[in-house]
Amino acid sequence: MNLLDNIRVVLVEPIFGGNIGSVCRAMNNNGITDLAIVKPRETTDWDDARKLSCNAKAQLEARKEFQTLEEAVADCTVVAATSARTGFYRDTAYSPKEFATIGLESAKDHKIALVFGREDKGLTNEELAVCTHIIQIPSSELYTSLNLSHAVYVCCYEMYCAAGIFQPSEEKAEEASTDIRERMFNVWREMMIETEFTHEQKLDHMMMGLRRIFTRGKLTVPDCKILMGLAKQSLWVTEQWKKKDTND
Ligand code: SAH
Repeated sequence: MNLLDNIRVVLVEPIFGGNIGSVCRAMNNNGITDLAIVKPRETTDWDDARKLSCNAKAQLEARKEFQTLEEAVADCTVVAATSARTGFYRDTAYSPKEFATIGLESAKDHKIALVFGREDKGLTNEELAVCTHIIQIPSSELYTSLNLSHAVYVCCYEMYCAAGIFQPSEEKAEEASTDIRERMFNVWREMMIETEFTHEQKLDHMMMGLRRIFTRGKLTVPDCKILMGLAKQSLWVTEQWKKKDTND
């Protein structure tokens, strides 16, 4: 059972169809599929919703609709309200990252909900009262209120990251051993003299510079092969020129 299947996104009376579509896309990007809408509006532009949901149309079509928040979260244990405003009844707020750990712990065995308010008025105090936690997304005090779908994105993203599903791409090639690295540096040493890039007196200094450059990141076996090939080819070309010079 995937933990993310136990997370429900609840939108309370959303105004814009486009935002609902973007919410579906944000959920889809983060592996969350359960969408509930409380009191959907007659005026909702569902064409816009479909357009902006892009590849997440399935989420949109599978949405569940409810008349009250209580009904939408009836089967959930942890219910997190999201709010840009703190203060009256909204004093203790968690960041999305902090909440992700708490929420996922409950999502192991239960359904949990992330609740988002109306674009113009947010959530009412009565709706907040139904929730067990408040999430406040850090934002500039110049403008604290995020677009609805952006707020959904940030919260779903933190849940997704905390679930530890994503495997970042990383270098798979084998790291070069000292033996391979030193063989490569020896060819470069020879090449720098033969091509007259530097003099014997400056060679050690140059080699220290090269060592610093080539070991700044992880140097792999294929990296060493390329660098060795380049130096060998330079040696070969230099040799041809020298032969040509003596024949002329
Ligand atoms: N003008 C409304 C903001 C509505 S934005 C108000 O002042 O409440 C629509 C919804 O996005 C909010 O109800 C909330 O669920 C979410 N949201 C927007 N900015 C947020 C923030 N900084 N932190 C948490 N949730 C936020």
